[in-house]
Amino acid sequence: DKAPASNFIRNIVEEDRLNGKWQGRVETRFPPEPNGYLHYGHAKSICLNFGLAEQYGGTCHLRFDDTNPEKEEQEYVDAIIDAVRWLGFDWGEHLYFASDYFDKMAACAESLIRAGKAYVDSLSAEDMRAWRGTLTEPGKDSPYRTRSVEENLDLFARMRAGEFADGTHVLRARIDMASPNLNLRDPAIYRIRKVAHHRAGDQWCVYPMYTFAHPIEDAIENITHSICTLEFEDQRPFYDWLLDALAEAGHFPRPLPQQIEFARLNLTYVVLSKRKLIQLVDEGFVAGWDDPRLPTLIGARRRGYTAEGFRRFAERIGVSKADSWIDISVLEECMREHLNEAAERRVAVLDPLKLILTNYPEGQSELCQAPNHPLKPELGKRDMPFGRELWIEREDFMEEPVKGYHRLYPGNMARLRYGFVVRCTGCEKDASGRVTAVLAEYLPDSKSGTPGADNYKVKGNLHWVSAAHGHPAEVRLYDRLFAHPHPGARREGDAEGLERSFLDDLNPDSVRVIQAWLEPSLKDAKPEERFQFERHGYFVADRVDSREGAPVFNRAVTLKDTWKK
Ligand code: ATP
Ligand code: MG
Ligand code: MG
Repeated sequence: DKAPASNFIRNIVEEDRLNGKWQGRVETRFPPEPNGYLHYGHAKSICLNFGLAEQYGGTCHLRFDDTNPEKEEQEYVDAIIDAVRWLGFDWGEHLYFASDYFDKMAACAESLIRAGKAYVDSLSAEDMRAWRGTLTEPGKDSPYRTRSVEENLDLFARMRAGEFADGTHVLRARIDMASPNLNLRDPAIYRIRKVAHHRAGDQWCVYPMYTFAHPIEDAIENITHSICTLEFEDQRPFYDWLLDALAEAGHFPRPLPQQIEFARLNLTYVVLSKRKLIQLVDEGFVAGWDDPRLPTLIGARRRGYTAEGFRRFAERIGVSKADSWIDISVLEECMREHLNEAAERRVAVLDPLKLILTNYPEGQSELCQAPNHPLKPELGKRDMPFGRELWIEREDFMEEPVKGYHRLYPGNMARLRYGFVVRCTGCEKDASGRVTAVLAEYLPDSKSGTPGADNYKVKGNLHWVSAAHGHPAEVRLYDRLFAHPHPGARREGDAEGLERSFLDDLNPDSVRVIQAWLEPSLKDAKPEERFQFERHGYFVADRVDSREGAPVFNRAVTLKDTWKK
C-alpha cells in the first residue's frame, strides 16, 4: 500500500500529534442527520473522517445528528448504517445519537444561564431578525437581554415544562450584538417545538439548535478534529466560544475539540442536495432511492460501483479549502480502474444477430476456453460452448464495409475470440432488407490455443455466444441521469430572467433496457457479482431483481469514457 498523500488536514493532524495535543489522540466523527439517504458527497466526508482515524490509529464515531425532530426517521438511520458499512468502515462500539445527549445539552444551557452567558428572549421571530442588524449595521439589544439569572432559569424551566407555545420564547447565547460576525450576535440555542422525536418520543418540547448541539456532541465524545464543510467556517467562532464557556463551567476538559473546514464535493452531471434528491424520488423521475442512476450510495451499490472505487476517488480528489468542481468522469474512471482489476471477464451479446457457420455440422458442439482474467492467470479459465449457430453483435457485420472496417463482411475473415477464424460468405435478409443472419464458413484448423491458430492473420476479433447454449437476460444500460454538467444552471446565451430547473436537464436516455444473450456461465451469477462484459463495460447482477438462475444485469460503466468530446 502506498502511503496516503499529504493534504492540509493530514498536516494539521500530524502537527497536533507532534505537539502532543490530546496526547497524540485522533478521534473523528461522521455526523449525518438522518433525514435522507447518503450521497456521493457524503462518501468524501466518510472516507476523510474514517480514513484519518485509520491512518493515525484512532477511532471515527458514527453519530446521528438527530436534534431536529421534524424530518428524521428510523428508515434513514438504517440506510446510513448500511451505507457506511458497505463503504468498508467500522465504528466499533462508537455508534451515537445526539438525541441521547439532550439532558447534558440542557444542563449546559443552564450553566450558561448561571454564568450570565445566556438569556430567554421573548421577541417575536420577526423582531429578532430585524434587531439582529446586517453586515453593515450593528444589531440592537433585545429588551429581554438584561433579565436576571433567576428569571432566565425560571423561564427556561417553564419552556421545558411545556408552559409556552412554539415560538413564544427562545434561549439565546449572550455574546455581542455588535459583532462583525452575525453568528455571534446572540445566536438562538434552544427553541420550543412541541413535536415528538423519533427516538426521544415526547419527552422534550424544547430542542437545541444545531450550532449549539454540535460542539457539545463533539466535546462529549472527546472528538479531537471535528471536520465539516466550508459553510460552517463562520460558525467556528461560536463553536469555540461555546466550548470555552462550557469548559470554564467545568463541563469539559481542555484541549477542546477543534473544528476544521474543507470544501464539499461538487460533482458535474449529478445533484448532491438532499432536497433535490428527495424531489427526484418523490416525483417519480427515478425508481427510488436505490435507482442506479441516482448519486446515492445505495444507488451506486446497485449500479455496480464499488466501495474501493469510492475510496480511490476520495484519495484522488484530496481535500482543499477552496470550492471547486470535480468532473464525474474522475469518479467513473476510479470505478473503471478498480473493476478492471476486480471483475472477471465474461461474454454477452447486447444487440444480437445470428451468425450461421454453414460448414459446421448441425447438432454438434465443442468447448472453447476463455481466461477469467487476463491480469490474473491464477483465476483460471472457463468453458464456452461453440456450435453452428452463434449470436454476434449486429454492428460486427456490414454488408458494404466502410473504410477501415475489419469485422465481418462478405469475403472477409475475422476471429471469433477464443474460438475459430471464420470467412464471411454473405447474409440473409427479410422483406424490408434488414439483415436477419450472417453466413460464414469456419476454418477447422484455426482454433485458439491449437498450433494452427497462428496461421491466420486477421484484424477483426469478435465476441460471440452459442445460440444453442446462451442464456437470455434483461440488461439495463445506465447512463448519466443529467445531460448537462451543471443541472439547472444558467448557460451562456440564456435570455435574461430565464429560470432553469435541474429537472429540465434530465437526460432522456439515462436508461435503456434490452434483452441480451449471455454466455451460459452467467446464468448462475449471484446478486452483486460484477463482471467485465468483453468489449462492453462493467456489469453487476442486480441485487434487487435478480432471481436464482435468472440474473438481471446493470451496466456500471462503459470500458472507455464515451462522453469525451
Ligand atoms: P442537509 O444540508 O440537508 O443537512 P447535508 O448534506 O449537510 O444535508 P448531513 O447529513 O448533515 O447532510 O451531512 C453529514 C456530513 O456529510 C456532514 O459532516 C457534511 O459536512 C458532509 N457532507 C454533506 N455533503 C457533502 C459534500 N457534498 N461533500 C463533502 N461532505 C459532505
Ligand atoms: Mg446537515
Ligand atoms: Mg448541508
